[in-house]
Amino acid sequence: MKYASTDFQIIGGGINGLLLTLELAKSGASVTLIERDRPGREASWAGGGIVSPLYPWRYAPSITALASWAQDYYPELVAELTANTGIDSELSESGLLMLDADDQDEALLWAASHQREMHCLAGQQIYNRESGLAPGFQNGLWMPKVANVRNPRLLQALLAQVQHFPDVTLLENSEVLGLESEGAMVRQIRMHGGCDKKPFTIPARQVVVCAGAWSGRILSESGKILDVHPVKGQMLLYKFSKPPLSSIILTAGRYLIPRCDGHVLIGSTLEYEGFDKTPSAEARLSLQRSAESMFPELQAMEPVGHWAGLRPGTRDGVPYIGKLPDWQNLFVNAGQFRNGLVLAPASARLMADLLLGREPIVDPLPYDPARQ
Ligand SMILES: Cc1cc2nc3c(=O)[nH]c(=O)nc-3n(C[C@H](O)[C@H](O)[C@H](O)COP(=O)(O)OP(=O)(O)OC[C@H]3O[C@@H](n4cnc5c(N)ncnc54)[C@H](O)[C@@H]3O)c2cc1C
Repeated sequence: MKYASTDFQIIGGGINGLLLTLELAKSGASVTLIERDRPGREASWAGGGIVSPLYPWRYAPSITALASWAQDYYPELVAELTANTGIDSELSESGLLMLDADDQDEALLWAASHQREMHCLAGQQIYNRESGLAPGFQNGLWMPKVANVRNPRLLQALLAQVQHFPDVTLLENSEVLGLESEGAMVRQIRMHGGCDKKPFTIPARQVVVCAGAWSGRILSESGKILDVHPVKGQMLLYKFSKPPLSSIILTAGRYLIPRCDGHVLIGSTLEYEGFDKTPSAEARLSLQRSAESMFPELQAMEPVGHWAGLRPGTRDGVPYIGKLPDWQNLFVNAGQFRNGLVLAPASARLMADLLLGREPIVDPLPYDPARQ
């Protein structure tokens, strides 16, 4: 089969690849999106959908810059997708309640200097907000504007939206095996696809690797180096008849996320085990214990779901967004680690700005892949 040459070839159909496809398609460019499975089935599906970093003041300013831009843009993005596709991603401004963090002073300073609303809660004020929490929490930090999004639905909406553009070609069930280059130019993308895994190539013009935790592996198969590694995260799901909590609760690194229909997610583990994403009995027990210690009503319940996903980690916790050094037409947008859902709209906009020669939304230097 022969494929028409497009302006851009994007490898990976998670939230980063789909949003970048949308950004480029909106600018009038033609795009081929290549996905080895169906789009939106990996980390972007597995995540919790908190539209904020956890303990946001503990991150580098470069993460805050992308997160702030994206948090402000999320309502517009979701409204546009809902209007265009009929799929509601259920963005809900539930607020984030962080309990017993021991660095409250730093948190409050950070919030004031970044215009993010944050309030201290003490003793009974915590229980006035969430009456079902376990007793004994002494202090809390409350961020009322933090939202959560139903990420599997967001992915469905994005997929439907990009398919509305006639100049977007979606190659699903097509796994990239390598990039063939001449000098500093990638010339062809080599892959196999379909039930019979038939090998084929497509021409490369401007190639962007958005393959999440697999980005380093794809590039290393073509002799190129990118420090992105998989970090496994497991989640549990409970179901109530109506939401038992109104806010996201975070304590000791574990969180509960209430969805509007009564589902409650508990996350998550951080495991460095390569590309294995099998859920484990130990993690299930550990997450159950954490959930019950936050919200005792869960002691009488069994989870209705348990899964794992692979986050794309980097050495310094900052994503790579930009051109790979020594290459003329090879770019990357990957490595958003625990924050890929919140950062994705800003990461995609920044990557599109760089590809299209527009004024970038934030200073691109901290994300430059040349810093590896
Ligand atoms: C348990 C868990 C909880 C999380 N919670 C949150 C949260 O609450 N908030 C938040 O902001 N972030 C969260 N995250 C992080 C977030 O989910 C990720 O950072 C983000 O989804 C990464 O998106 P991506 O598009 O880069 O990668 P992915 O969604 O993994 O997409 C990469 C895509 O590339 C494809 N691909 C791989 N190799 C190839 C190949 N050779 N050829 C073609 N296609 C290929 C894959 O099939 C996949 O579809 C969480 C993650 C996990 C695992």
